[in-house]
Amino acid sequence: MKKAWQETLYAIWMGMAVPGLILAILVMFWEKDKPESNTEPETLTAPVSLSVLVLWPDGVVEQMDMDAYLTGVVLAEMPAFFESEALKAQAVAARTYARKASVTGGKHGDGSVCTDYTCCQAYQSPEEYLEKGGTRDDIQKVRSAVLDTTGYVLTYNGELIEAVYFSCSGGKTEDAVAVWGTDYPYLRSTDSPGEENAAHYSETKRFTSEAFQEALGVALAGEPAQWLGEVTYTAGDGVDTMEIGGVKYSGVELRAALGLRSTAFTITVQDNEIRIVTYGYGHRVGMSQYGADAMAAAGSDFRQILSHYYPGTVLEKCLQEGG
Ligand SMILES: [Zn+2]
Repeated sequence: MKKAWQETLYAIWMGMAVPGLILAILVMFWEKDKPESNTEPETLTAPVSLSVLVLWPDGVVEQMDMDAYLTGVVLAEMPAFFESEALKAQAVAARTYARKASVTGGKHGDGSVCTDYTCCQAYQSPEEYLEKGGTRDDIQKVRSAVLDTTGYVLTYNGELIEAVYFSCSGGKTEDAVAVWGTDYPYLRSTDSPGEENAAHYSETKRFTSEAFQEALGVALAGEPAQWLGEVTYTAGDGVDTMEIGGVKYSGVELRAALGLRSTAFTITVQDNEIRIVTYGYGHRVGMSQYGADAMAAAGSDFRQILSHYYPGTVLEKCLQEGG
């Protein structure tokens, strides 16, 4: 009887142990084959508590809780009616930007981030948001997106990335090198479909021939139709160079001089009027906010959105200061 009992126990043990062992081996191989990009970090038990130095418009630098700061950034940088996964992607990009400033010194040299969107990142406090007609539900939705991604930052080769973003690409994002002259492997042109309903997807601007010359600071002879020469384009369908009146301008120069929404534009002349149609809004490098919203509406989560706009980057959880 004793032997039969032992055999039964042995059979039960083998019945559990052998499939367990096989499963363990399978998991081991699966882990090994998993792509490195955007891998899920280990489950965390420690709470994430990051802070950020905020440079206010009056020049005061204040230390703030990172996620409280990010709630204000997302409220200011992205419409709260956007999909939650797009808001999460925005929160991760903004957190990465702030962490990078903290680690490298940032644009202000002291690790702080200011609240000017043309310099660092825009910020609107929940109180200001309510005063301007926003709702508590919006604030809660944005806060949840920030807290759901708490600690998450994007890295490339172990370094925090330049997590740049903009409003709308017009269909395709731009190479960083085309705009800033520096190449980043994760900031290269990519398709950005579904933005057609975005504000400023395309815009037409008209100049008289006089206003056009004034904007460029030149006096051109002949008919406007004869001023326009050869055009070259960037990988992101932006204007790389354009010849006007025999002078070669970069797309970036023309965008600034003519006050265009982006470097993706066409110029035509009709009845001596110069007509410029621009596509997208912003520098068009990195994550398109309207594109992120379109991806989220089509079912992508924030990880997929981030790996689309910042290819090859890894999502990591930054646990503490200096982490
Ligand atoms: Zn700044």
